[in-house]
This record gives sequence, structure tokens and C-alpha cells, in this order.
Amino acid sequence: MAVKFERTGMLLIISGPSGTGKGTLVKMLMDCDPSFRFSCSVTTRKPRDNEIEGVHYHFVTEEAFDRLVSENAFLEHATVHGHRYGTLRAPVERMMAEGYNVLLDIDPQGAITVMQNADDYVSVFILPPSFEDLRVRLHTRNTDDPVEIERRLKNARGEVQKIDRYQYAVVNDNLELAFAQLQSIANAEKHRTTRFHPHVAEN
Ligand code: ADP
Ligand code: 5GP
Repeated sequence: MAVKFERTGMLLIISGPSGTGKGTLVKMLMDCDPSFRFSCSVTTRKPRDNEIEGVHYHFVTEEAFDRLVSENAFLEHATVHGHRYGTLRAPVERMMAEGYNVLLDIDPQGAITVMQNADDYVSVFILPPSFEDLRVRLHTRNTDDPVEIERRLKNARGEVQKIDRYQYAVVNDNLELAFAQLQSIANAEKHRTTRFHPHVAEN
């Protein structure tokens, strides 16, 4: 007879410098584990060519962002590389209440705010193998102009200083290996007795 169980959802914070592979790893996790839902952030940044409203981000004006701040709609929000980004509280709370694991792809400022305020979370810092690799990745991704790339690389040096605030670190050198490590963290965390509640049957 199968063991019956209940699960409590996990808030999984994936963070680290721009270009380190967070989006790639988040997509891989979403594609292979239906227990995860992505928290679609709000941003004042302009959409890139491949980005879809409501899938990658909710793209809004500065005024709309200000309104959401005044309505206390954000779990956290921060200015990152000159643009504003925020995590909407209501969808995260709804998905968690439905029992899903929720993925946040957010910068270290936002991650630290969530860690200070949330009762329960799992935090993972994604590192590049080197700053040179990060430079190459940002150029290869071909989504930001050279000035923007320099800004992101400069910020990356400050961001990696915050690694000690996180529970886990993954170096994304070999993508398959990094993904396997991220999956191991997620799978182990799913089995904490605070999140996994099995009921042993009599027979
Ligand atoms: P982030 O979401 O952290 O800004 P992305 O997921 O967009 O980063 O990755 C940045 C670029 O690096 C993308 O072009 C992606 O395909 C590439 N990339 C991701 N992981 C690796 C890796 N392990 N090795 C080489 N390139 C990678
Ligand atoms: P990008 O402009 O490349 O999509 O994202 C730039 C940075 O903003 C990345 O580090 C990404 O993780 C972060 N980011 C995306 N959404 C949010 C959010 O809702 N809050 C915060 N604090 N950072 C975010």
C-alpha cells in the first residue's frame, strides 16, 4: 500500500550576478519538476526581443511600479542595474497555499529582504566560474549593450561578497553538473520533516 503524505511548499530563492545562469537553471528546474512554479516579477526595464509579458516579467511604467509599492503589493523590491524589480506578494502566497514550490529569481538585495522577512525559505547563490566567463556569457547572451554589460560586471563583484548570507552555493561551470547540484538541494529540502508529512498506514 502506498504511503500517504502531505507536503508544504518551499520558497526557493535563486540569486547571484547577472549572466551567471540563474534563468537557465530555473527554466531547467521548471521543465523537469511540475511541483515548481515561477514567480513572475514586475520590472520597469524594457522587454528584450524574446521576452513575453506575464511570462518573463510584468513590464510596467515607473508610475505603475510606485503604485504597487504604495499598495504594499511587493514581498520585496529593489533597484538593480538602474531598473526597478519587485516580487508580487499575492501570487507567491497563492501558489504556496496551493502546495507548490515557488521559485524566485531575484538579485541579492531582494534575496536578503526575503530572507529577513520570510519564516521559511531555501536560498541558493549561483556563482560563475570566473568574472571572465561571466563577461563572455553576458556578451554571448546578446541581450544587453556593452555599457549595460560593464555595469552588470561591476555590480557582480559586490554581489558575490554577499554569498555568506545564503544557505547554499552552486558554481555554474558545467551546466549539467550545476543543475544536478541544484536538483539535489531542492530534493533534499523537499524531504525536511517541516515540509514532508508522511502518514504510516497500519498495514
Ligand atoms: P542570468 O539569468 O543569471 O542572468 P542566463 O541564464 O541568462 O543568466 O545565462 C546567461 C548566458 O549564459 C546565457 O546565454 C546562457 O545560455 C549561458 N549559460 C548558462 N549556463 C552556462 C554554462 N554553464 N556554461 C556556458 N554558458 C552558460
Ligand atoms: P534581468 O534584467 O537580466 O532580467 O535581471 C537583472 C537582475 O534582476 C537579475 O539579477 C535578476 O535576478 C534580478 N531580478 C529579477 N526579478 C527581480 C525581483 O523581483 N526582485 C529583485 N530584487 N531582483 C529581481
